[in-house]
Amino acid sequence: PNGASLPRTAGGGPNGSPAGTTPMVTVRGLGKSFGTNEVLRDIDLTVNRSEVVCLIGPSGSGKSTLLRCINFLEAYDRGEIRIEGTLVGYSEDSPRRRLTNRELRGLRRNVGMVFQQFNLWPHMTALENVAEALVQVRGMNKADAAARARQMLERVGLAAKADSYPARLSGGQQQRVAIARVIAMEPHLMLFDEPTSALDPELVGEVLQVMRDLAADGMTMVVVTHEMGFAANVADKVAFLDHGRIAAFGTPREVFHESAEPRVQQFLQTYH
Ligand code: ADP
Ligand code: MG
Repeated sequence: PNGASLPRTAGGGPNGSPAGTTPMVTVRGLGKSFGTNEVLRDIDLTVNRSEVVCLIGPSGSGKSTLLRCINFLEAYDRGEIRIEGTLVGYSEDSPRRRLTNRELRGLRRNVGMVFQQFNLWPHMTALENVAEALVQVRGMNKADAAARARQMLERVGLAAKADSYPARLSGGQQQRVAIARVIAMEPHLMLFDEPTSALDPELVGEVLQVMRDLAADGMTMVVVTHEMGFAANVADKVAFLDHGRIAAFGTPREVFHESAEPRVQQFLQTYH
C-alpha cells in the first residue's frame, strides 16, 4: 500500500520495478516473425510507472513492430506482454487467449499512441479534433468535451489555435494537436513512433518540449526516436535495437557513453 507513493528513484523490487508497484509494461521473451523474417527476438523490457524509455536503433531493427505489439496493433509469436499486469496480445507459449473486444477497448483506453504522421481530421478544427474522441469514445457531452479539449490545447501551448483547421497549422502545431488529442483521453501509457521525423528541423524542438513537459508531469512514455539529445536528456532508460534484439539497455549514460557494444557506437556516429 505504501508503494505507490514512493519516489521514482526508490526502485529495487522484483523485475526492477519500484517496490510494491506493478510495472506499466513488461515484455518477456517476445518473438515475432513476418514469414521467414525474424523481426523481434527474445525481447525483455520493463517500463516502470513515470519512466521514459527511448527505443533507438537502425531502420528496420524492429522498433515500430515492438511498439505495435505493445499497443495490440500486431500479434506476436512467442513470449508475453503485460500492461499494468494484464496479459495482452497472444503468443504460443503463454496462455493463448485473445482478448475480448471489451477487454481490448479497456486496454486501448489506457494506452495512447502518437505517430510520425499526425492523422488529424482535415475538416475539423484543432479543438474539434481533440474533442471528437472525448464524445465518441468517452461519451462526453459536446460542451464538456470542448472545455476539456481547450484545456488540452493550452497544455501543448496551442490555445490560440483552437479554431484553426489543420491545413492552417504548421507540422509542429499539428503534431502538438495530435498529442493533445491523446492526452485528453488520460492514458496511463503513451507510445510515440518517431513523432518528429516528419517535421522540418526548426519545428522539432516545440514538439520535443511538449514531450519533455509530459515526462516531467510523470507520464509513462515509450519513445521511438532518432533525437539523441532528447534520449540523452529525458530518457530514464534507453534500449538500442539491432536486428530485432535489444543489443544495449540502460541509462542514457550507460548506453551512450559506457556501452562496449560496437554497434551502438557505430550507430551513434551516424547521428552526430
Ligand atoms: P523500424 O521501426 O525499427 O524501422 P520495423 O519494426 O518497421 O523497424 O520493421 C522491422 C522489420 O519488419 C523490417 O524488416 C520490416 O521490413 C519488417 N516489417 C514491418 N512490418 C511488416 C509487415 N507488416 N509485413 C512484413 N514485414 C514487415
Ligand atoms: Mg519504425
